[in-house]
Amino acid sequence: MKSIKNYDLEELKKQLLELNEKPYRAEQVFKWLYVDKVNSFDEMTNLSLDLRKKLKEHFEFTIHKIKTKQSSKDGTKKYLFELNDGNAIETVLMEYKYGKSLCVSSQVGCKMGCKFCASTGLPFIRSLTSAEIVEQILAVERDENIKISNVVFMGIGEPFDNYENVINAIRIINNQKGLSIGARHISISTSGLVPYIYKLADENIQCTLSISLHCTNNEKRSILMPINRKYNIEELMKACKYYIEKTNRRISFEYALIKGENDNIEDANGLIKLLKGMLCHVNLIPVNKIENEPFKKTNDKNIIKFRDYLNENGIVATVRRELGSDIDAACGQLRRKSVNDK
Ligand code: SF4
Repeated sequence: MKSIKNYDLEELKKQLLELNEKPYRAEQVFKWLYVDKVNSFDEMTNLSLDLRKKLKEHFEFTIHKIKTKQSSKDGTKKYLFELNDGNAIETVLMEYKYGKSLCVSSQVGCKMGCKFCASTGLPFIRSLTSAEIVEQILAVERDENIKISNVVFMGIGEPFDNYENVINAIRIINNQKGLSIGARHISISTSGLVPYIYKLADENIQCTLSISLHCTNNEKRSILMPINRKYNIEELMKACKYYIEKTNRRISFEYALIKGENDNIEDANGLIKLLKGMLCHVNLIPVNKIENEPFKKTNDKNIIKFRDYLNENGIVATVRRELGSDIDAACGQLRRKSVNDK
């Protein structure tokens, strides 16, 4: 049985039509789910008892249980959610001047094996359904009594390894009759699954694409990010150029600065050579500490030097504010914890 939260409004209308229900019923259900954010079919009080019974017989109602919630001193909050099958994922709420941003997970575990990322530490279990992605937003909005303004697919998992469910979730999140989060306020981050960059370019979705680049040299990048052995930097850049040409949208390149690995002047020159003239932005991220990995953060002075050098050479670069590192909620620190982990 599929969850009711797997369907965008048009699909829900079709589903209800099969149950001999009029399209306006789907609109009512959609409003209960995403505007009123109810916890069960029983709370949908303007639907007849008969229809509520039918819904219960045909659809699951996905609700994430909050197993733990940690708060950072900077206001960031990290949730460990238990899914219906007992698996667990993490979701991070961050406060910015422009609003509340939620970093969502797209899979239970991740296959990509990036060396600087804690999600690599545990095996991949499965991809999330669209309902399980959307419910992360609903669960946090219910818990905090807030409205999320931005969603970033930068939690556990490679979103493009779960492409269809992620895109479907974006359509649900984006719907004006529901959560109504503008596509321009939604970002998808990929480690570089090239075929899906082309696919996204051809969809009519105005979301932001982020590329986890981290290295401009194939040899080093293949060690840090094994996906580079399948799709190297040249193939990745070709796909990025196609994306920009097709959408006229700026790409954000993520670059985690690791002391002695990718933070010297040659690396900066590599970035300049690779990105000069492209419609893009570089997000410099001081790499965060994770268990069992020797990587050290570039010191603050060198991060600024690296940023300024890029800016002076025509590459727009900023340093991302570090949020939530004291609760292991910062970039690269999320991992697929067991619900029994503390
Ligand atoms: S950085 Fe992203 S793609 Fe790489 S292992 Fe971590 S979650 Fe997976």
